[in-house]
Amino acid sequence: MRSSIEKDTGLVSYLRNELLRWYDANGRDLPWRGAGKPDPYRVWLSEVMLQQTTVPHAAPYYEKFLKLWPTVGDLAAAADELVMAEWAGLGYYSRARNLIKCAQAVVGEHGGRFPATEAELLRLPGLGPYTAAAVAAIAFGEAANVVDGNIERIMTRLYAIEEPMPAAKVRVRQVAQAWVTADRAGDWPQALMDLATAVCRPKAPLCLLCPLREGCAGFASGEPERFPVKLAKAAKPRRYGVAFVFIENDGFAAERRADKGLLGGMLGIPHTPWRDTPWSEAEAKAVLGDFSYEKVGAYEHVFTHFALSQDIWVIPLSLVQRQAVLRAHNDWQWLPWAEARALPTVFLKAVKGLTPP
Ligand code: SF4
Repeated sequence: MRSSIEKDTGLVSYLRNELLRWYDANGRDLPWRGAGKPDPYRVWLSEVMLQQTTVPHAAPYYEKFLKLWPTVGDLAAAADELVMAEWAGLGYYSRARNLIKCAQAVVGEHGGRFPATEAELLRLPGLGPYTAAAVAAIAFGEAANVVDGNIERIMTRLYAIEEPMPAAKVRVRQVAQAWVTADRAGDWPQALMDLATAVCRPKAPLCLLCPLREGCAGFASGEPERFPVKLAKAAKPRRYGVAFVFIENDGFAAERRADKGLLGGMLGIPHTPWRDTPWSEAEAKAVLGDFSYEKVGAYEHVFTHFALSQDIWVIPLSLVQRQAVLRAHNDWQWLPWAEARALPTVFLKAVKGLTPP
């Protein structure tokens, strides 16, 4: 190692160029990285979709959204339900709601053009510090300090930061700032993200292939994987529920969930409340009411803040009963089996294995 990167700004600038050279040769060919000037709408859409989601999972959604809504104006004018349905499967549904609000704000308050600075972008609904900085840097070439979990990993390793996350976030932002310049401001965060995916991986980083190795204190320590240091995680609480799948001939009953709260505004399968203790059959029956049912299994779903164990009860209906349950519940609708994919994953799991009668 030539010397500590903390004291040697010349080394930082040398390594920065090395990483950008590596990026030019090895950068990923992603659907939102075309030739020419990046389109702010596309950059924003890809960044929102990529939060908490892998590139292979997000890419088909990105293509689909662009086909349906090629501009921010098209997205702002789309029906909320349609956008939410197309988002189904990407998870973290508050992002979809904010996506719509943000598109409407860009059209309503900025004449359909994304504002060009990090400070203004930050004022748009749903744009947190990471997304605002990423759009400012990638779409507008602003020297913004873009820091996500991947860049945190690289920085904590480069500087061998012993302070555990998340307390170390302030220090990580400080050290990351030292690498930010107006020169290739948009390529810089993308180069870091590609390095984080291909080389500085969470497990088994490929340090011998890394263009930053010469200045990396984590590599020099012999234990780069130890960074970022994390406090032991508390186990996720578990909740329990019973999903009631009312079926008849061509489909099943889906409910439109209340706007506020978890999965707000999305379609769902009627279910008991989710609580800390398992439901006895008698308790669940009392919630279901006077219907015949069949217990067909159970499944698991892990949310950010809790894990859910849900039993599946199938309730076969006659046509008359089907009409009656729909009349009794304003927020229910009949969903053909072929449209089950409009459900968020947690409810799709309840109907996935069911074969239409
Ligand atoms: Fe990550 Fe290793 Fe490169 Fe350091 S040398 S930045 S630990 S891949």
